[in-house]
Amino acid sequence: MLGKQGWSLLSHPDSLVARILKARYYPLSSFGKATVGSNPSYAWRSIMAAHNVIIQGSRIQIGNGLQTTIGGSPWLLDLDHGYVTTSLPDAIINAPVSSLMLPGQRNWDLDALTDIFNERDQALITQISLSSRTDDDVWYWSADSRGLFTIRSCYKMLVYLSEIPSSNVWQRIWKLKVLAKVKHFIWRAVVNVLPTADNLRRRQVELSSVCLICNAADESVVHCLVNCSFAKSCWLLSPIGYEGGCVYFVDWLERVFARCSSDDCDLAAMICWSLWLNRNSKVCKNRNGRLSSVLNLAGQVLFQWRSVRKVQLFDNTFVSSSHGAVC
Ligand SMILES: [Zn+2]
Repeated sequence: MLGKQGWSLLSHPDSLVARILKARYYPLSSFGKATVGSNPSYAWRSIMAAHNVIIQGSRIQIGNGLQTTIGGSPWLLDLDHGYVTTSLPDAIINAPVSSLMLPGQRNWDLDALTDIFNERDQALITQISLSSRTDDDVWYWSADSRGLFTIRSCYKMLVYLSEIPSSNVWQRIWKLKVLAKVKHFIWRAVVNVLPTADNLRRRQVELSSVCLICNAADESVVHCLVNCSFAKSCWLLSPIGYEGGCVYFVDWLERVFARCSSDDCDLAAMICWSLWLNRNSKVCKNRNGRLSSVLNLAGQVLFQWRSVRKVQLFDNTFVSSSHGAVC
């Protein structure tokens, strides 16, 4: 229900309610860039709880292309990321999408697209068919075939974005016998809130989307922890092995849970955590990690934690039995 209200604010910015909320909470921007702000009302805070999924699922259908800016709006037919990813000068970022069409025609200017955009953006733009109609650009909901926002399609979008993993995955994560901070890290990876390049770009942070470790693909959670060539080599050297072909991290995790022993699942979580530390070291300090260092750290921290737990269990058992003997 709150998602529906948020969708209404985005898709009908001229409605009375939208104008009132805009005046109070985002007078100089749009609903897409709105934040909870200070001293929010209960209603506004509730609407903003669904903000993330609304923004991720909303796209602009190009009509005449006059109301949509090339670099500031999600108008590409990509369910994961509707924005262009090419680094562009401000003049092009703020230009209307109509400037990419041949003058007086309903066709894309293919020469301009080739000159301006990377291959991914070119392919996505040319997938958009320009009909003879020249209506205004309109918002649509990408998780519904009719483009309509419904609670059901919103839920499907949450599942697609992996923000609602199956309860079985949750149970398995909390049952892992690893440090609490590692469980928390795995949870953050599953709900896709790690600050990877793709997630930061989704929040309008200007930076390169390329993985700094392999320089061969965009950085996402599943790339960083599974599909990156460095991560792949780690998995192949470990008892877990490499599980390729996963689009989302939660898919990979479910497969590992399904085929690995309890001990190997613990080790897999530790390797993920160690891979993330290695990634941070590269991003923040430009240090190139080694496969052996990543695997050793994961194994050693797990071994030490298990040893401490064994001592604690032994102490508790000893204390209990001693008390029993005295009594
Ligand atoms: Zn990589």
